[in-house]
Amino acid sequence: MNLHELPNLSTTRLKALKSIGVESPDDLLMLFPHRYVDKTRVEPIRSLPGTGDPRLVIATPVSIYTTGSGRKKRLEITFRDDTGELKGVWFRGENYFRNLFRKGKYYALFGSVRRFGRQMSMVHPEVEPLQNPNDTGSLKGIEAIYPGSKSLSRAKITHKLIRGWVSTLLHEGLGSEFLPASILKEENFPERRAALKMIHFPEALSEPDTALERFKFEELFLFELAMGRIRQLHFEEKQGPVFTPGGSLVRSFLEQLPFQLTEGQRSSLHEIANEVRSGKQMHRLLQGDVGAGKTVVAIAAMLMAVDSGYQATLMAPTEILAEQHAQTLTSWLSDLGVVVKLLTGGQKQALRRDILTSVEGGQCHITVGTHAIIQKDVRFHQLGLAVIDEQHRFGVKQRAEIVNKGTSPHLLVMSATPIPRSLALSIYSDLDISVVKGLPAGRKPVKTAVRTEKSRNQVYSFLEQSVRKGGQAYIVYPLIEESEALDLKDATMGYEKLQKLFPDLRIGLLHGRMDSRKKEQVMSAFYKGKLQILVSTTVIEVGVDVSNASVMIIEHAERFGLSQLHQLRGRIGRGDRESFCILIPGEKLSKEGRYRLKTMTETNDGFQIAEADLKLRGPGDFLGTKQSGLPEFRVADIVEDRFLLEKAKQKAWELIRNDPDLNKPGNNALKSVFEPYYLERLSWFELG
Ligand code: ADP
Ligand code: MG
Repeated sequence: MNLHELPNLSTTRLKALKSIGVESPDDLLMLFPHRYVDKTRVEPIRSLPGTGDPRLVIATPVSIYTTGSGRKKRLEITFRDDTGELKGVWFRGENYFRNLFRKGKYYALFGSVRRFGRQMSMVHPEVEPLQNPNDTGSLKGIEAIYPGSKSLSRAKITHKLIRGWVSTLLHEGLGSEFLPASILKEENFPERRAALKMIHFPEALSEPDTALERFKFEELFLFELAMGRIRQLHFEEKQGPVFTPGGSLVRSFLEQLPFQLTEGQRSSLHEIANEVRSGKQMHRLLQGDVGAGKTVVAIAAMLMAVDSGYQATLMAPTEILAEQHAQTLTSWLSDLGVVVKLLTGGQKQALRRDILTSVEGGQCHITVGTHAIIQKDVRFHQLGLAVIDEQHRFGVKQRAEIVNKGTSPHLLVMSATPIPRSLALSIYSDLDISVVKGLPAGRKPVKTAVRTEKSRNQVYSFLEQSVRKGGQAYIVYPLIEESEALDLKDATMGYEKLQKLFPDLRIGLLHGRMDSRKKEQVMSAFYKGKLQILVSTTVIEVGVDVSNASVMIIEHAERFGLSQLHQLRGRIGRGDRESFCILIPGEKLSKEGRYRLKTMTETNDGFQIAEADLKLRGPGDFLGTKQSGLPEFRVADIVEDRFLLEKAKQKAWELIRNDPDLNKPGNNALKSVFEPYYLERLSWFELG
């Protein structure tokens, strides 16, 4: 059956439905009510609340009269039941209603009840004539109210009309079951069509919730089935290069480190080593809070590749971060004879050609860079491991692109976005997860405070004191594309003002619009301690590592997201100095802005902050829908329903282990629903 075969479904209405995403009968069945009107209880007039709540009353007219004239004309009818009187008022259709009501007959009335003095009244109630006062009529029941939209009401699509269509579709046999019978039984879920009835035509107010659980599961189940299948077909079976992880480079590197590895680093490295020696291709997410020391783990992993005769590459989202990584790697590895090259977009042609030649020839062991690494002309001699730093800044597509630079090289992606583990496991089904738990010993938690414009002078004198004692500081300004010019001006003016205020302090300015060489100079001066204060836009947000920096002032702090603030704050508190983060909000603070700043002052724990951020922004925005390959869920909420998500995953994976192609008889219906869904998923991952 097609949508346009439904009664009263004109082209205009079809268009209106399409505008809210309803394009097929199934979509219509899945257009769930957002609330229900309870018309199950008949209320005695005497106990009506009169607060505007809609109520159902059964009463008989005792007087019917018209007042006013012309446009002021209205019909007033006094109704009575055993307990009291209620006035019904009609401003329109006065003739029609006058003829509808008969004294002594009984009517069901449903509408908002308001009290004026001692008088209760309903304006334009819904009306249904009854045979006798005990007759309940068809008005009685629970009524589904659908999410309204302007286009629906413009096309005169009423809730009643939608209910009618849904009822027709259900009668025609649509909405049939596709979940395996065993799952329905194990989970005690209602059968699909019964569940749809519970959603659209509930007989009790508890029914929709019961049914909703089933539909949430169904949605999550399909998602997990697709993720499981993608993994089965594209990753699990793939061979990867075989490394010998205990080689001399790895050992020398770890020995020369000026510190002991943390437990989290050690166990992550262990997990990586086990996988890269297995012959299976690795797809691993390395998760750890800001400052947990993920870079060291990545370097050791890359050395496993080099030790085994392969090349490795490390891709970072910004030039500044790529440069910093290149410097760190060079300083730690050049004595070991490891050749590290930096590849970024801003490089001169001749230099770029040299680098590409040594990458292709195999002389360069480790290539560090930005997106420049995934350009077409970059060819590796033999890429064994690709590492992506701050992977949430990249898309799923780029993940695939970098892997395509070699013959199924191992992949390690790193992220400081501490998504709750169960959630991460369910979302990144194609990735295994290692967690770098905890921070290196001796880190002092950063103290965070909010200061207003009024205390700016105190903040500045605090800043001055700290840098005069040998520390370094960041002052961060927001920069968003929409207001880039203004934002840059802000940062520049802040910089000039500070220079005037402290003419003898060494202050630098850094923003993304500066050319690469200039950026490099400023950053390098800050690394070396030549600059005491760095005024910067958010270009320093991720990864930057200067352990002597202990003060950060964040201007217009309310304009940053929670996770972003946490990332920024992660630039300090990396050394022995006690560190301070001062948040200065702009003039206006929204309720949410206030909550974000408060959260920042209350905790340094990345997981807590991520949870709060997740709640504020919702998973799509928090994870970046594109990045995570996450679909828009219709009924489920992967945060609130995360237990259901886990269950769905478990059931889905069990199913495809036993019946990968869904060819068993009991899975026929599932297969026909799953196939189109899966194709869409594949296109997300650009694996199709
Ligand atoms: P992130 O996990 O945020 O990427 P980094 O890798 O930048 O963190 O590490 C933060 C800082 O901690 C770096 O200066 C690094 O040298 C240092 N570091 C890493 N591991 C340890 C450790 N086990 N003990 C002490 N310092 C460490
Ligand atoms: Mg990092």
